[in-house]
Amino acid sequence: MIHAECVPNWLKKRSELTPDRIALEFNDHSYSFLDLHSRANTWASALYKKGIKKGDTVGLLAGNHPDSIFILHALFYLGARVVLLNSRMTENELKFQLDDSDASFLISEQKFKDQVQFLKKNRLIAYLKEDFKESDWPEAPILDEFDLEETATIMYTSGTTGKPKGVLQTFGNHWWSAIGSVLNLGLHEKDTWLCTVPIFHISGLSILMRSVIYGIRIVLHDSFNEKKVNDDIMNKGITIISVVTAMLNRMLSELGSQEYPNAFRCMLLGGGPAPKSLLDDCKVKNIPVYQTYGMTETSSQIVTLSPEYSMDKLGSAGKPLFPSEIYIELDGKKAPANQAGEIVVKGPNVTKGYYNRTRETKKALQNGWFYTGDIGYLDEEGFLFVLDRRSDLIISGGENIYPAEIEGVLSRHPYVFEAGVTGFPDSKWGQVPYAFVVLTHENSVTEADMIEFCQMFLASYKTPKRVLFVPELPRNGSNKLLRRELRKLLEEEQQTDED
Ligand code: ATP
Ligand code: MG
Repeated sequence: MIHAECVPNWLKKRSELTPDRIALEFNDHSYSFLDLHSRANTWASALYKKGIKKGDTVGLLAGNHPDSIFILHALFYLGARVVLLNSRMTENELKFQLDDSDASFLISEQKFKDQVQFLKKNRLIAYLKEDFKESDWPEAPILDEFDLEETATIMYTSGTTGKPKGVLQTFGNHWWSAIGSVLNLGLHEKDTWLCTVPIFHISGLSILMRSVIYGIRIVLHDSFNEKKVNDDIMNKGITIISVVTAMLNRMLSELGSQEYPNAFRCMLLGGGPAPKSLLDDCKVKNIPVYQTYGMTETSSQIVTLSPEYSMDKLGSAGKPLFPSEIYIELDGKKAPANQAGEIVVKGPNVTKGYYNRTRETKKALQNGWFYTGDIGYLDEEGFLFVLDRRSDLIISGGENIYPAEIEGVLSRHPYVFEAGVTGFPDSKWGQVPYAFVVLTHENSVTEADMIEFCQMFLASYKTPKRVLFVPELPRNGSNKLLRRELRKLLEEEQQTDED
């Protein structure tokens, strides 16, 4: 019997509804939904034979590859919770996430074998391919229904502001995330989503979920390559792609004077702030940019801006998707329009909490609302503008300074490759902004030049007091800037100066 709180096993259902439609393309191979279902079934049997059963927590360390997708679905079929592991993690980080999530199995791609050797003693490691050669597996008991309240995946946050936290993502969270997205973007019969973002992140995982729920094709790339992406958009009938700013920048320079075909209908841009210059370039090239705001805890987008507003509401992340709500909280109260405060969100796509972290969960989830830790404001028409993370806010002489704004200005300088800004203690002002800059050409500009450049665009309290040139900026496995590490860089430098 199907309960109201259950949905049918969605890949199985999809394979019954549209068995012959192409589900997945990878290099020169394509798989229909029926193929996907039967491969998931076979993998489910193989994994069952290895001892994986309903209720187990299983780590999956695998890149963007069809096998990873078959196994992911196979684990859902068996009723196991999947911990999606970032393949760029160090041994210690991996160990932390496996221990922290209480995973009793790890399934790893062959190529990461060395990275996970340390686990061999106490956990079963099944290497893809190597360990699954036989084929007479017993048939596994597979779920006919998914309980929307059950945890489907545990996904760690990127660890930009602290240690990564394991976010519980239920089937219901993924389901509603897919529904919220499609109620906004619409669904075309020939839709094809190009997935070059990692499937171990919510940006990639959510594409896999949408494909099955909507019945649309995915073209999968194992990594991001702007030439390959542009070629596929030009030639493979891609209609939607998910990108972050750095990817879009590279796609545009590779594209040159060409334009994308009309069938390409959505450039979903998220993960961080979008600079005005980039949006201007997209406008000139008729690229339909949908800016979006979301996080691991909201199982992908929660706020999205449609292209018709992209110029009028420049820099806005848009309005909350149909099933979701947001407001801004300031001093414990709802903030009026245009006043900055913490972004608070609600919706069936929002997590029920962090695994084994009662304190953090209690702090983040209050009366059904999730406190994002991000600062932003809503304009009088309800459009969200994300300013920065609360933990990165610099307070200088009582004024709030958002590092992202200063980084945006620095990035406009032709010799600046990238910039990171953080606050540093100051006896007069409390804190002052310091900038760390990676130049495109070494010694092309001086600190004084950079400060002068900032003064043209920023109020004096926002102008960095120091600009330090560094060979690279500290980033985490998700390639996000670690501003807290900048702080450390500076402290270390000052320490050596004192010594
Ligand atoms: P951690 O929570 O461990 O510090 P993280 O927040 O970077 O890591 P993710 O869930 O991958 O982990 O990232 C979500 C965050 O990315 C958001 O909370 C927000 O700070 C930032 N972000 C996402 N979209 C946007 C956007 N459109 N504009 C500005 N910031 C954004
Ligand atoms: Mg976060």
